[in-house]
Amino acid sequence: MIHDFDVIIIGASLAGSAVAIHLAQHGISAALIDQHTFPRRKACGEGLSQVGVTELRHLGLSDSINALSHSPFSGYTLWFPTRRSSRGDLPINLSSADTFGIGIERYLLDQLLADAATSVGTVTPFFGEKVREVVTEQNTFSVELAERAISAPLLVLACGTNIPIASKLGFECRTIREHRFGASVTVNCALPHQLNTVQIIAESGYQIFVTPVSKTGLNLSVLADKQSSSRIRLNSLASHWIQVSSLLSLSGEIVSSPSASSPVNNACRAHRVPGMFLVGDSYEVLDPIGGMGMSHALVSARLASLAIKQIVHDRVLYAESLRRYVEAHERATKPLRGFTRLVQFMLTNRSNRGLTTFAKRIGIALPIAKAVHSGRATLTTACARELLNVIGRTTNGR
Ligand SMILES: Cc1cc2nc3c(=O)[nH]c(=O)nc-3n(C[C@H](O)[C@H](O)[C@H](O)COP(=O)(O)OP(=O)(O)OC[C@H]3O[C@@H](n4cnc5c(N)ncnc54)[C@H](O)[C@@H]3O)c2cc1C
Repeated sequence: MIHDFDVIIIGASLAGSAVAIHLAQHGISAALIDQHTFPRRKACGEGLSQVGVTELRHLGLSDSINALSHSPFSGYTLWFPTRRSSRGDLPINLSSADTFGIGIERYLLDQLLADAATSVGTVTPFFGEKVREVVTEQNTFSVELAERAISAPLLVLACGTNIPIASKLGFECRTIREHRFGASVTVNCALPHQLNTVQIIAESGYQIFVTPVSKTGLNLSVLADKQSSSRIRLNSLASHWIQVSSLLSLSGEIVSSPSASSPVNNACRAHRVPGMFLVGDSYEVLDPIGGMGMSHALVSARLASLAIKQIVHDRVLYAESLRRYVEAHERATKPLRGFTRLVQFMLTNRSNRGLTTFAKRIGIALPIAKAVHSGRATLTTACARELLNVIGRTTNGR
């Protein structure tokens, strides 16, 4: 059967566009579909770890990133305002002289990747086109758009937490823990020099994240459980800005309309459909609380592209190439997942633990955070393993 493309990619955000760029480097043709046109805003804390920055280098985008407005950050500052006012606690600092990553607006970053993907001759964009149906028949995927259908022997799902498409295709999708929702805005604000860490303010049922994204701007995001999101009206972020600006002594104004997310912690992990690869949030959602979702999207995109290249050029069978992808993905994702658990643990369990024990754990949290963000995490030392085990048990981790 003659196909229109070697691969169809649904979703042209970080994961989808990165797959398209990697495939183009191997001369593999791809249709890149997204319901939106770029640039567009997306709910995100916009903190990209060094792991993700390294992936952008693999994509040949280092110079382009340097030319875009962005702001390096050197760690995290965790606030517990309620306890602070009652006990006079200082915030907990997980920061060092090293760069942990950069804050960069998704409005700019996603457009950069989509532009880079579509500037290559082998990638055909279908932007502003929503996928209505995917039909699988005789080793062919037929994807129905508004006015046409296109076909390919391989399909990449990079449509984030779009569960309807994945479920229709037979994937087992589930929610990890209770549903959580997110929303974010950009704030125009003269940033003090010392604000070079991501500030995380932990409240009961929700967390506020403040990420510097340029010399004059920051991202304000909120993540909340279902109950809190209706109580605090997630879409009205102005009240959170008032809370943050007084806590951090900042002044500025919200300059974008809020973007909100569907539940952030849906996931489908089982690959059941021959010829299909999941990447980014479609494969696995790392709760945004750890700020590792973007890096994961880029890492999984590179690994999936390698697997696809093996099928197209090296004649490796799908089942074998999928096995290699899943194994490589597990190795690469383990530290990122561990860091997510670490942050979750610190934000949600602090009040239940003896402070001394907690402080000891924080003592080894910084080396772990540094190692994970630099992409050099091995997590082999006994204490790091013990810490992650505790976190895994406490958060019912996967
Ligand atoms: C509030 C919040 C804060 C976050 N903070 C951070 C952070 O600080 N750092 C970090 O690394 N991560 C963060 N994340 C996570 C991060 O945003 C995601 O992990 C990342 O965007 C995943 O990228 P992706 O390409 O897999 O999916 P997405 O970015 O979700 O992209 C999916 C794409 O698929 C398209 N699509 C979906 N359905 C269809 C369809 N039917 N037809 C056509 N196109 C379709 C969508 O339009 C979209 O462009 C945060 C998330 C939230 C919600």
